[in-house]
Amino acid sequence: MENDGPLDPKTNGRGQDGVPGAVDIREHRELIAQLMSAEERGALLTTIMDACNDALVSTDLRGIVCSWNLSAQRMFGYTAREMIGRSILELVPEDQRQREQEMLAGIQRNGQLDPFKTQRLTKHGQPIEVLLTVSPVRTQNGAICGLSQIARDLSEQIRSEAKNAMLSAIVESTDDAIISKDLGSIITSWNRSAERMFGYTAGEMIGRSILEIIPADRPQEEPMILGRLKNGEHVEHFETRRLTREGKLIDVSLTISPVRDGEGRIIGLSKIARDITERKLEEQRKNDFIAIVSHELKTPLTSLRSYIQLALARTAVRADLASEKLLARAEAQTRKMSAMVHDFLNLSRLEEGKMELDRSIFPLAELMEEVVGESSILSPGYRFELECHHGPQTDADRNKIGQVMTNLVNNAVKYSTAGALVHISCRIVGDEVVIAVADQGIGISPDDQQRVFERFFRAGNDKTRYVSGFGIGLYLVSEILRLHGSSIVLNSEPGKGSVFSFALPLYSGPAQGASLIS
Ligand code: ADP
Repeated sequence: MENDGPLDPKTNGRGQDGVPGAVDIREHRELIAQLMSAEERGALLTTIMDACNDALVSTDLRGIVCSWNLSAQRMFGYTAREMIGRSILELVPEDQRQREQEMLAGIQRNGQLDPFKTQRLTKHGQPIEVLLTVSPVRTQNGAICGLSQIARDLSEQIRSEAKNAMLSAIVESTDDAIISKDLGSIITSWNRSAERMFGYTAGEMIGRSILEIIPADRPQEEPMILGRLKNGEHVEHFETRRLTREGKLIDVSLTISPVRDGEGRIIGLSKIARDITERKLEEQRKNDFIAIVSHELKTPLTSLRSYIQLALARTAVRADLASEKLLARAEAQTRKMSAMVHDFLNLSRLEEGKMELDRSIFPLAELMEEVVGESSILSPGYRFELECHHGPQTDADRNKIGQVMTNLVNNAVKYSTAGALVHISCRIVGDEVVIAVADQGIGISPDDQQRVFERFFRAGNDKTRYVSGFGIGLYLVSEILRLHGSSIVLNSEPGKGSVFSFALPLYSGPAQGASLIS
């Protein structure tokens, strides 16, 4: 067919008379007339009009509606029966009718008009924003006999534009740096706070790799984050450091989420970076304070304990039972204080990244006996049961594992009532030894179970209110075990009790001076 060829560039697809598509339409009409009856042509036209998502309306030159498709009915609420024969101006808000009439008259004079945004009224008087394309309808000889109007409902588009504008305003006004990047780590957006935090403008960073702000000693971070997100994991409050334009390192907390397309495929990442430099400095000051205070307390406390032990020995010689009892209590209190100071020292070492393990091979039963022995002196009102068969040995830091056990046993006592049983056990499971401390105490609610290993966390309820503590014991327990490549497991039921357990590697070499108990 001749007309299937490219548009004539001189007429830009218009007929010789300058009327858009005039020649094409005439030829098409003839062809269609040969192929279809008038009835078939009408049915085809109605089907096409009704299948269209836009409102398609035709009017005569006075603006009287001649055709009205299904989308027009959906959009404006009038049926074709209601609208055909009525003026199209009924859809136009009163204050815009004059302008609309002038515009329609202009089309009749000058032909096609560019699509424009305007308002229409629904049957219920509700205004809707539409994009209107008005074209003249021509007779075979090119004379304008009516108008066709295509109205596209812009409500959804306007809503989503408003939503986008709101989101952009939030992104631009927040104090956090919000950055998006594609899967190749190329930055695709960079908000004002990112400019402030890192010193680069959006213009400078969009199109560049995020690696620009990742310190050279952390090359593994980006692939690690990508890997976790691809596995469907979330990355929240990931604390790390980033590099500013001036080469300064700043502490940031990152929350990274995948950006997905309509089919749910990950097409990029959005990253929220919060500057936590101030918080880190505050933590540093706190750690320094804890380190200094505990260090200063350690020496006088050791002397105090020695003097009490000396006095105890003298009272024993003099058989002064009353003084001996009082001094024994004083000595127990200094032991408790020493344990606290020890915890604080370890906490500050841990925070400084200076906690190191001093591994050796030792029998677990012996250490457990020591811990239980100490606890029975400090908490005589409780029953301790030690169960450790086979005398297993392990390869770990004896002092620190002792501290883990002491903390767990002390907690078992602290959060139980006097007379309760504290059961400490070890058993071999495969190539590991599982150590467990079970109590019959107040238990821990499921919500608190998620948090008890956080630094400074203390469950706040009626039962714990009067129990003293700092909320660092379990944090130290979990961190010490983490350094050993192990982890703490908690099973607890409020009102029934708790079991804390952890596993250490079973050393199966020759015994290292083990004292076996069972
Ligand atoms: P502290 O005992 O000094 O508060 P921890 O870090 O040792 O700090 O424990 C954190 C919190 O966990 C405690 O405040 C307490 O609420 C809860 N907890 C720890 N051990 C037990 C236990 N055996 N039974 C019940 N609650 C416990």
